[in-house]
Amino acid sequence: MAEKTLNPFEIAQRQIRKAVDELNETDELYYFLSEPMRTLEVSIPVTMDDGHTKVFTGYRVQHNDAIGPTKGGIRFHPKVTKDEVKALATWMTFKCLVVGLPYGGAKGGVIVDPKELSKVELERLSRGYANAISPIIGPKKDIPAPDVNTDGQVMAWMVDEYSQLRGTGQTVHAVFTGKPVEFGGCLGRTEATGYGVALMAREAVKELGMELDVTTSTVQGFGNVGSYAAKYLSELGSKVIGISDFSCCIHNPKGLNIKKAMEYVKVNKLLTGYEEVDSTELSRDELFLIESDLIAPCALENAITSKNAEDIKTKLIVEGANGPTTPEAEKILLRKGVFIVPDILANAGGVTVSYLEWVQNLYHYYWSFKEIQDKQEDKMVEAFENIIHLMREKDVDMRSAAYMIAIQKIAIPLRLRGWIYEEKPEDKVK
Ligand code: NAD
Repeated sequence: MAEKTLNPFEIAQRQIRKAVDELNETDELYYFLSEPMRTLEVSIPVTMDDGHTKVFTGYRVQHNDAIGPTKGGIRFHPKVTKDEVKALATWMTFKCLVVGLPYGGAKGGVIVDPKELSKVELERLSRGYANAISPIIGPKKDIPAPDVNTDGQVMAWMVDEYSQLRGTGQTVHAVFTGKPVEFGGCLGRTEATGYGVALMAREAVKELGMELDVTTSTVQGFGNVGSYAAKYLSELGSKVIGISDFSCCIHNPKGLNIKKAMEYVKVNKLLTGYEEVDSTELSRDELFLIESDLIAPCALENAITSKNAEDIKTKLIVEGANGPTTPEAEKILLRKGVFIVPDILANAGGVTVSYLEWVQNLYHYYWSFKEIQDKQEDKMVEAFENIIHLMREKDVDMRSAAYMIAIQKIAIPLRLRGWIYEEKPEDKVK
């Protein structure tokens, strides 16, 4: 049946409802978790290079701060919507809970195509956005980070803007993560999300009774997450036979040279035109038609839908992107026996290392690249094992088990703080 709606926020709410029901939890808990606690919409006036002013719309959504300050990236994209940012903020809460970070979820977005801006216009927009959301962010309140089309440079401008606004003469590094290493950033942060995707692929492949070095894999999206996912999958032994980005898909049944492809994209921005011996260029969606042991969708949400799920031939999907598989597609894939490592675990490497960056900024004490990657691996593998344990115990799929773990964890502080109280008629004082 065709999917009526692909609104990511409705998808997030359905995922929470399912896990709340599976845990026999209360409606009060569901209602509390199904809406963000705060949604800020801002208008950002930017002086363009030709002298006229253009007003951009942005959002910052904070889903829940029951456990600690909120945390989540900022996306610059022409298709940003309020509901998309609400969904992404909601998923962040569950992601932080799954890997055991002392954060709630948040997300930000600006409706803009950054490719159409000059560098100076991008700086003005980044500063304008940081200024507009500054009343609700802070190192102990809400700590943004990069997401699609934002990077360390954008974070550096935002830190500078926020610090100037405070007017104390101090640089507040800990208010944003994902900064350049030379400016309070963390070694291993750039690689972290993709590295985590490869680690989770390794664990899931073991779960399926295989070893990564006898597998083939394909990766959708060749930006920050996809390129490093492909690089580490390849380094851990998988033969990466397909990669794609917005422009095309590159297929090489003999295995791609990911380092070379990354160097090509650094210069040419897109994969189109990239060649290797035995490689062919296909259209971008043909990636999902390549048969491989595992697929890592690392582009945007709603990549795998009821329209293409039947055609996908794989044993394992490791969700590098947020929300890449729609619920209808998931039903089809689970029926076909495909194992899915859900986004809230698979791409949690980014926020895990962002957490380490924040801790280092607060303590002014910095770890080595290896120490960071080891800490990330420990946290993610432990989370993987906990989810698998509950998945077996409750006989549910991995996404449901991940949500159930998160909901069990957050229900405790919500009740302790008195934010939800389920009074039954018989509890009432007569
Ligand atoms: P990015 O902008 O660096 O890369 C996105 C990539 O997807 C680009 O290569 C783009 O060309 C490609 N793409 C876009 N549409 C496509 C399509 N239809 N088919 C194939 N490729 C397409 O973004 P990113 O930071 O790599 O983020 C990707 C996803 O991972 C997003 O869902 C994001 O929310 C999620 N994520 C990112 C991080 C992080 O640390 N960057 C952390 C957690 C989750």
